Amino acid sequence: MTIFKKIIDGEIPAEIVYQDEHCLAFRDVNPQAPVHILLIPRKEITSMAAAGPEDHTLMGHLFLKAAEIARAEGIEANGYRVVVNTGQAGGQTVHHLHLHILGGRALMWPPG
Ligand code: 5GP
Repeated sequence: MTIFKKIIDGEIPAEIVYQDEHCLAFRDVNPQAPVHILLIPRKEITSMAAAGPEDHTLMGHLFLKAAEIARAEGIEANGYRVVVNTGQAGGQTVHHLHLHILGGRALMWPPG
């Protein structure tokens, strides 16, 4: 079981900023920007690479909610970044699909 599943189940506390029947968003414990939120599906999908055709609607839902959350957090006007680290070289450390929503400062490109 991943740490994110424990957050979904309420076994570990998190600062939740949005939730619905399909997903949950909470502040990253180690923020890399003034606003750093993790948006995860309630469904246990290990990574973006593990999502399948059955997740078509869910994946769209996550991206649309990421935009809504960014707007609610006040980072839409200046711009923000949504990142999905995938696999080892992608820097993924928690094996439950998650979108990082980052904003509140100018972000560098290319990423490290
Ligand atoms: P990844 O490296 O897999 O893309 O991102 C995992 C993220 O989860 C990291 O940014 C890390 O700070 C965050 N994280 C890990 N454990 C916890 C936790 O228990 N609570 C919260 N809120 N964030 C966590």
